[in-house]
Amino acid sequence: MSVSIKTSTNGEVTVKTGLFINNEFRPSKTGSEFTTPNPATGEPLATLSAASPEDVDEAVAAARKAFTTVWGKKSKPSQRAELLYKWADLMEADKQNLAEIESNDNGKPVWFARDIDITDSIGCIRYYAGLAEKVEGKTIEQEEGVKLAFTRAEPIGVCGQIIPWNYPIQMFAWKVGPALAAGNTIVIKPAEQTPMSALRLAELAQKAGFPPGVINVINGTGAVTGRAISSHMDIDKVAFTGSTVTGRSIMESAAKSNLKKVSLELGGKSPVVVFDNADLEQAANWVSMGILFNHGQECCAGSRLFVQDTIKDDFLARLKKNFEAHVVGDPRDIKTFQGPLVSKQQQERVQSFIKAGLDQGAKLITGGEERLAHLDPKFKNGYYVAPTIFADCKKGMKIVDEEIFGPVLSVQSFKTEEEAIQLANDTTYGLGAGVFSSDASQCMRMVHALEAGTVWCNEYVALSNAVPFGGMKQSGFGRELGIEGLKEYTQTKAIHWNYGGKLSWPIDGTTE
Ligand code: ADP
Repeated sequence: MSVSIKTSTNGEVTVKTGLFINNEFRPSKTGSEFTTPNPATGEPLATLSAASPEDVDEAVAAARKAFTTVWGKKSKPSQRAELLYKWADLMEADKQNLAEIESNDNGKPVWFARDIDITDSIGCIRYYAGLAEKVEGKTIEQEEGVKLAFTRAEPIGVCGQIIPWNYPIQMFAWKVGPALAAGNTIVIKPAEQTPMSALRLAELAQKAGFPPGVINVINGTGAVTGRAISSHMDIDKVAFTGSTVTGRSIMESAAKSNLKKVSLELGGKSPVVVFDNADLEQAANWVSMGILFNHGQECCAGSRLFVQDTIKDDFLARLKKNFEAHVVGDPRDIKTFQGPLVSKQQQERVQSFIKAGLDQGAKLITGGEERLAHLDPKFKNGYYVAPTIFADCKKGMKIVDEEIFGPVLSVQSFKTEEEAIQLANDTTYGLGAGVFSSDASQCMRMVHALEAGTVWCNEYVALSNAVPFGGMKQSGFGRELGIEGLKEYTQTKAIHWNYGGKLSWPIDGTTE
């Protein structure tokens, strides 16, 4: 069961299409399948197996067996590190193939998948390989000669991981890297829109020599496979990245089943504040990147821009120029920065927001269909959306209040720092925020005031595998990346050790 995908250099790359359970690819027990299209053309790309609840049971049983027999406390940290390094090396050697698969399935440019997603993902796996031997507890001073206390950071067990379609390989790496390094086994479900690259990663894991059952990759829909994971009685933790609505439902399933631990990285409507003392050329470039990166399909996209009123017209002109120079086109072309969105559904959703912007009186600065007129006819059924800016926006407009997950920027102006803070924080989300100012004290005041898990000063959207990432407010809880990301996959055991104290009996109010 495999499919051949055409590459940008007229070659082919093969992807296995089954469920990866116990180091084997096999079809679903119920024969259930689904088809994923190529977003650039709308044509079918591959038909893959979809896991039924019985398949999920089998994957969990494989992961449990591996956890209790060969992984977890039965493995040495150095062994886990070695396998993770080996896996990363195989990814490195397979980088171009992975990028071709990702581009065909997701729509992002091949170069972007290779040089950003995959490069960072390999870095992430190596980062956590390096941390596998640095999982530490601590000793807590007690009574000398009497008692000692210490903690151990133990793996949690079998982890269910449910990931989205915007960064299929990167979200995979962010989830599996820390989980495996800390000694957990995993059952991971890619998004049904982008099921393919994870299967290639599974094949590489098999080659690297991970024992059967440590890594299980099962595709399927959220409603069947995802739900079977979040409600499973033998999964100890579920980690999720995706929409706030789905996050809520996963938390509910976890609560109603076995109270498994939950970490959620959810949506955002991140504010970016530009003060009139900023380097405006740099600010315009970063703001453009903040919303156009990955086609705006970015949970921390800087989608609400607040510009000081004194520079509004100048700044809008700079943004318009940038957006119009931004190349939308063939994902196989090295010049393209924006390919199609991931799915027809997402294209229609983003278009409906653009319509709402116009209907609710926002002023269109750039965007609209004519911006896509240059596209080759072979992409006429592709899921393209023009990069769009709306000015004169205000609270109450759908484009200001709701997460769009597309290349659409709403712009508002402000007079004072206090007003900027109030506008920026006026959202239920709290994932990212940006500030552009040449005044360091002003930047620091904004860092304190902005309600977000990540604040960028004089840049936007850049992340590092060593720096924790996650949300405040309704953008979720738990952190990924960095040492904090590793801690999400351990649980603390506290040990009280009496080595010299004597307990006398019977006990009364005079007992020490
Ligand atoms: P989107 O709406 O953009 O597709 P979702 O948050 O629904 O984003 O999807 C992210 C991931 O969550 C995908 O892997 C999807 O299959 C999964 N998912 C969707 N609904 C559920 C659910 N009810 N339970 C578990 N997983 C789900």
